[in-house]
Amino acid sequence: MLSNTMKAMLNIVLFGPPGAGKGTQSQKLIERYRLLYISTGDMLREEIKAQTELGKQAQATIERGELVSDDLIGRIIEAKIAREPEVAGILFDGFPRKVSQAHMLEALLEKLNSRLHCMLSLEVPQDVLLQRLLERGKVSGRADDTEEVILNRFKEYEAKTAPVAEYYRQKGMYTAIKGTGTVEEIFERLTAEIDKAAAK
Ligand code: ADP
Repeated sequence: MLSNTMKAMLNIVLFGPPGAGKGTQSQKLIERYRLLYISTGDMLREEIKAQTELGKQAQATIERGELVSDDLIGRIIEAKIAREPEVAGILFDGFPRKVSQAHMLEALLEKLNSRLHCMLSLEVPQDVLLQRLLERGKVSGRADDTEEVILNRFKEYEAKTAPVAEYYRQKGMYTAIKGTGTVEEIFERLTAEIDKAAAK
């Protein structure tokens, strides 16, 4: 398990607050670069839908807008990678969300004999984020897209996730990307940075 000695992988973290557009851009990025998509949020929602033991453990926490334990996150990521041993690279969306998870990621990529190529952070003003999430809440059916829970997710982001940006900044790996404009414009900005990082 977890060996990839054939070809160099391209590994990317797409970072940013709730509502920044990570999910939308991820779909386009995995298609362009043929990457394995690891969205911890999507995977957790699937576990909840299937009412697995793990899903049941995560559900209440997610509905409060808080972060689930590193242990659960580690388990779903390892399981996903074990199912897909031959990948051209991985796009992480919604992970790492705490500095402890940044350490988990390092260990994981080391096991894969690989490394992180870039960490791209979508930057969007908070009032725009709130509007986008409230709009999405009308159609997504997501239990955590209500105003009260969204504000709690922002709080968790500031307290636990923003330090992850600082962590990568200190390593010289952090790239801010303007997350407003059209989906295409934002995609262009992201791919320009990825192509640069992949060439290094
Ligand atoms: P968003 O970015 O819109 O907040 P996600 O779909 O990425 O949404 O995540 C939804 C919820 O799932 C989070 O609020 C959190 O409870 C949980 N979650 C997702 N990823 C992680 C993670 N890496 N660590 C802890 N909790 C997570």
